[in-house]
Amino acid sequence: MIFAGMVKSSLIDYPGKIATVLFTPGCNYNCFYCHNRAIIEDIDVLLDPTEVDDFLLRRQGLIDAIVVSGGEPTLHRDLIPFLRKVKDLGYLTKLDTNGSNPDVLKKLIDEHLVDYFAIDYKAPVWRYGEICGPDADGNVVLETLVMLLWAGVDFEARTTVVPQLTEKDLIRMAKEMPPLPRYVLNPYRKPKVYRPEDQARIDIPPYPEKQIAKFAENIKLYQQNVVLMF
Ligand code: SF4
Repeated sequence: MIFAGMVKSSLIDYPGKIATVLFTPGCNYNCFYCHNRAIIEDIDVLLDPTEVDDFLLRRQGLIDAIVVSGGEPTLHRDLIPFLRKVKDLGYLTKLDTNGSNPDVLKKLIDEHLVDYFAIDYKAPVWRYGEICGPDADGNVVLETLVMLLWAGVDFEARTTVVPQLTEKDLIRMAKEMPPLPRYVLNPYRKPKVYRPEDQARIDIPPYPEKQIAKFAENIKLYQQNVVLMF
C-alpha cells in the first residue's frame, strides 16, 4: 500500500483515541477547497512501505488506532489487504472517505476491517459537481450512507460549511440524508494551495462560528445528532 504522508500521533482524528493517520495519494473528486491538493496532484514523494510496516509493528500497544485518510483511500486496491494486516496487529481502524465507493465499503464491512467510518457529505446532490468536480455524484454518497446505516456500523457524516453553501442548501442536505447517528459540521478554512482559477471562490470569507451554530440549530429537525467541530 502506498502512502503520501503520515501524522504519527493525533488526538483529533479518532473519537477518544490516540491515532496515527496515513494519507493515500490521489482522488476521484476535485473539491475546490481541498486541503490535500499536494497529494491529489503530481505526487512525487511517497513513504517507504517498509518504514510504514516497521512503524506499525513498533507502535503496537502505544497507539490505539490507525486512520486511513486521503486523497481517497478506496481507490487503492491494496486497501483491503493493508487493513487486514492492521487489524491483525490489534489496532482499531478508521476510514475517512468521500463515500464514492459503496462497493469497497461493503467489502470492508463484510470483513469487519473498519471500526469507524467518516463520510464526507459535501453539498446537496444537485450541487455536487459544482463543489467537487464533474466526476462527483452525491447520489452515490447517499447510497453509501444508507448502506452504513443498514449495516449497523459506527460512522459519522461530515460537512465542511463552505461559504458557497447557503442555509437552504444545508437544510436540503439534512433532509436528503437519512437521520444519522452523528453529523459533524466543520468550519471552512482557506487552503494554502489551490488552483488559480478558484481564487475568487477560495477568498470568500468563512461563516462566523455563531452563524454555523445557528445553521446547526435549524437542521436539528432533520438531523438530531448534529455536532459542531470548531
Ligand atoms: S474528496 Fe477530499 S481529498 Fe478528494 S478532492 Fe475533495 S477534499 Fe480533496
